[in-house]
Amino acid sequence: MSHSEDWIAFDKAHVWHPYSAIGADLPVYPVVSADGVRITLADGRELIDGMSSWWCAIHGYNHPQMNRAIAEQAEQLAHVMFGGLTHQPAADLAKKLIEITPETLRTVFFSDSGSVSVEVAMKMAIQYWHDKGLPEKQRFLTIRKGYHGDTFGAMSLCDPVTGMHNLFSEILPKQHFADAPTCYFGHPCKGDGAKGLTDKLKQHHHEIAALVLEPIVQGVGGMRFYSVEYLKEVRRLCDQFGVLLILDEIATGFGRTGKLFACEYADVTPDIMCVGKSLTGGYMSLAATLTTEEISQTISRGDPGLFMHGPTFMANPLACRVALTSIDLLLNSPWQERIKNIEQRLQQGLSPCRELPQVEEVRVLGAIGVVELKKPVEMKHIQQCFVDAGVWIRPFGKLVYLMPPFIIEEDDLNKLTSAVVDVVERCPI
Ligand SMILES: *Cc1c(COP(=O)(O)O)cnc(C)c1O
Repeated sequence: MSHSEDWIAFDKAHVWHPYSAIGADLPVYPVVSADGVRITLADGRELIDGMSSWWCAIHGYNHPQMNRAIAEQAEQLAHVMFGGLTHQPAADLAKKLIEITPETLRTVFFSDSGSVSVEVAMKMAIQYWHDKGLPEKQRFLTIRKGYHGDTFGAMSLCDPVTGMHNLFSEILPKQHFADAPTCYFGHPCKGDGAKGLTDKLKQHHHEIAALVLEPIVQGVGGMRFYSVEYLKEVRRLCDQFGVLLILDEIATGFGRTGKLFACEYADVTPDIMCVGKSLTGGYMSLAATLTTEEISQTISRGDPGLFMHGPTFMANPLACRVALTSIDLLLNSPWQERIKNIEQRLQQGLSPCRELPQVEEVRVLGAIGVVELKKPVEMKHIQQCFVDAGVWIRPFGKLVYLMPPFIIEEDDLNKLTSAVVDVVERCPI
């Protein structure tokens, strides 16, 4: 299929895209290359990237150092099974992750996607309590409007409405849900702000293995930023009721919120933490589940004395190597200053939206800018409007948001925010 029309037509008829219908009347734009913050379409048009390919491409595309890392690693060792064998990229990356995450996290389990890292976290929590003599602790507590992935365990923790729990109700494990926090970032969380969680814990703590949530930013489930005090209270409640705390930093990790990890805002240490998405700077699929020595030792000394998980592509060397390069690039860059600048520009650039009658709320935290509309967008039209405006912005539901690569220059960022203001104002939504 040498003609681009041929493979594009084939894709439309035969290839699923995320949350899509085959043969749908929605455009899927063919990309031929990407460089820096620009994505080039098959027809030659260039789009400024406002999405970082779903929080991942923090250094932009086609980065010379990242390219070199992958190429060098490919020549040396592209992959080898991780059962009974090991390699330096895995050990080096684990060391780095242990160094940069909260101090008590000391062991690392690599997997290939965020969803799987959440499954792994859930299994760790269950095995831990089993080995502590509390095998009845097999359920989880979480908050509404969360998102933790698309596999069954992870999906059981997603918001029941947006996660379509009805559709899968016969097979989905039943978890406990408390309402999403209503105390927002930058605001205090008065005395009983976490009452929903407290009530659930009082009633069900004996069967709850862990409380799972995204720290500070609820991502795909609503792009909501909640109070630092709420997260502190979450940690306190977990300790009080003997429940582990699993923080899903898959979206928030590696600087996006202005801290390297969002849990740093509350100075809270989870018992288990998931990272993924920007871990490899958007180059490869890789995720990791970190935990404490207490948990890894308990599991390792317990029955059956093994942690029961082992993906085929566990700790793929290409992915580990490019993740190491990505983290080094990030830490050697003035990332805090960059995120601060992006935050200011997003605040300024998106603020005209506040005056628009279509808009419910504008909120910005770190390199995340959200315009929440009063009604859900009409995907087909709005997507076309953004592409016509020369930007890649992909809204969902009522949310039009920006998550640009950290390396974006001021001019390009201004183009992104202007496009949001223009399209929200003028495009038929
Ligand atoms: C994207 C995401 C996941 C799932 O990661 P995948 O790599 O898509 O499986 C889990 N949790 C959060 C918070 C996410 O944003």
